[in-house]
Amino acid sequence: MAEERRLYICMRCGRVFSRSEMEILPGIRCPYCNFKIIMKVRSPMVKRIPAV
Ligand SMILES: [Zn+2]
Repeated sequence: MAEERRLYICMRCGRVFSRSEMEILPGIRCPYCNFKIIMKVRSPMVKRIPAV
């Protein structure tokens, strides 16, 4: 019920994934390329750079 909506982005391949996807592999790393440096993303849909 209290599932977080947080997403993570890999600093290497740029993939965005959820925590459950990350838990497929042991430890904190990208499930796609095994890179260990990832960042938290709060709301990827709202993330936009103002074009002004
Ligand atoms: Zn990756």
